[in-house]
Amino acid sequence: MTAVALNLEKTHHWVAVNSYRVRVAAFALVGVPIALHVLSRSPGVLFWITFLFQFALYPHLMQWRTRRCANPEKAELDNLTVDAVLSGAWAAGLGFPLWITVTLFLATLLNHTIMRGLPGILICPAALLGGALASTTVIAFRVSSDTDGLVTLSSIIGLAIYLSLMGVEFFTYIRRLHEVQGAVASQKQILEDANAALQGQISKIHDLQEKLRDQANRDSLTGLFNRRYLEGTLEREMARCKREGTPIAMLLLDIDHFKLINDTYGHQAGDEVLRVFSRILQESARAEDIVCRYGGEEFLLVLPKMPLEIARERGEHLLQLFEGTVVAFGERRIRVTTSIGVAGTPLHSDSAEGLIRCADEALYLAKHNGRNQVVTFGDAV
Ligand code: GH3
Ligand code: MG
Ligand code: MG
Repeated sequence: MTAVALNLEKTHHWVAVNSYRVRVAAFALVGVPIALHVLSRSPGVLFWITFLFQFALYPHLMQWRTRRCANPEKAELDNLTVDAVLSGAWAAGLGFPLWITVTLFLATLLNHTIMRGLPGILICPAALLGGALASTTVIAFRVSSDTDGLVTLSSIIGLAIYLSLMGVEFFTYIRRLHEVQGAVASQKQILEDANAALQGQISKIHDLQEKLRDQANRDSLTGLFNRRYLEGTLEREMARCKREGTPIAMLLLDIDHFKLINDTYGHQAGDEVLRVFSRILQESARAEDIVCRYGGEEFLLVLPKMPLEIARERGEHLLQLFEGTVVAFGERRIRVTTSIGVAGTPLHSDSAEGLIRCADEALYLAKHNGRNQVVTFGDAV
């Protein structure tokens, strides 16, 4: 039975699987009181053939029919209706013996409501009635409702067994349902955890990508933007300022006699000077300024929306800041100065390349004039 049921579960609709077991049990259990009831009346061989066909063979025939149908669910629901019609016919044919009729009615009603839901409450009595009417038409109407003690007892026991079987069946179903729900919930939890971990990994990857992008644009020693970044943004800044009709200025800074710092205090001391000066540049910059390490000890400040005179003042201010800064490196105290070249739009050039060239020439002049000074391009020598 279990093997059959499992096999069926794989290939057939649950209604078909359930109905088979239910039908076999129901007809076997109701067959006992009917057999006991008619035994004293000594019915003929034809009755017993019909009886065996109905209560032993019929459930398997119906199952065989269901398995052959393309739509097992629909076939099984049709079978249920046939069950009810036949039950009605048997009850009427036997003269409505009370307990047998009650057993047939309750078992059929239970089957219908379980398999059909609410419509079963209407379909079942209608089919029972149909069967009873057909039977009374063929055999003639008679009522003989008495059942002896043994028949009553076997009916009640049969009904009790049947209800218990149904109860156990549904208890098993509900327990399996809970198990499946539990398994689904735990799988869901595992999936949610995996998803959260994945999201974490993705955001880490995004952060890393962001960091990498930033690192590619920055100088590793000073943390300032590098020339690569400048190349990508300078033209855009120039175009923006041109579009908005605002000036843009550039300061090109070069540390004076930096080679001497390296030679005197060592390369690492030189690095520290570069770091300190970079920090000063960064801290004194506005949000829109681009502070870039342009070469070894050269820095370029791009100052959008800044008129030339103000840019020069910025240069003077930076010069003083640098001059007043003492870089501590171990026991050493290092002082350095810078030279600064200034250029700006629209006076000196309209292009980024032209402005840098002007700033570079101004810086050259600043060096030439003795260093530690700011020179604006075009200033008298
Ligand atoms: P000037 O006043 O004419 O600019 O003289 P200078 O010595 O500053 O200029 P020069 O171009 O002769 O020397 C620049 C030196 O900067 C040479 C190079 O070794 C050093 N330098 C370049 N990059 C770095 C760096 O990352 N760290 C250190 N410590 N030194 C660097
Ligand atoms: Mg230099
Ligand atoms: Mg230098």
